[in-house]
Amino acid sequence: MKAFLALLVAVLAIGVNGQTGPCANIRTRGAWGSRSTNPAWLATQPPNAFVVHHTDGARCSTVALCDQQMRNIQNFHMNTNGWADIGYNFCIGDTNQVYEGRGWNRAGAHSPGFNSRSIGFCFMGAFHTVLPSQAVLNTAQAFVICARDWGRLTTTYRLLGHRQDVATTCPGNALFSNIQTWPRWS
Ligand SMILES: [Zn+2]
Repeated sequence: MKAFLALLVAVLAIGVNGQTGPCANIRTRGAWGSRSTNPAWLATQPPNAFVVHHTDGARCSTVALCDQQMRNIQNFHMNTNGWADIGYNFCIGDTNQVYEGRGWNRAGAHSPGFNSRSIGFCFMGAFHTVLPSQAVLNTAQAFVICARDWGRLTTTYRLLGHRQDVATTCPGNALFSNIQTWPRWS
């Protein structure tokens, strides 16, 4: 029994796909209390772009606060913008755990030129003059890599900031400078 429990713990630690890292540790829609939605699938699968955003809103440092923030963003996007779901595919806050937005292979509503063929990834907070913590930045970068390794993103993907698609300050000057040092930014 002891050996079985040790094995069980080991299996849980490496995740259902035999992988570790942020792709194996996503806070699901069910966990944060998402509304039930059914947005369109991506036209291009796997997607070939990764678009970085910030909410330009509040940061969150506890699971309860980040869960609430996800529900707030989703309600705003659906009730005010009239969208089918929260606009982003994934988000991250100061708890350093990736949140499932629309999720894998769903078309987002975050960057008009890329919605049909990208992962839209949003940092919760305003990053015009300050950056997320290094730990959060590391998790986000690791998430791009595991998405690629899991076949959820092409190996020749382009990484970019929202402002490279449309006229916007998103994802903030500080964060935009930072992502230009990430692999495959162009
Ligand atoms: Zn944006």
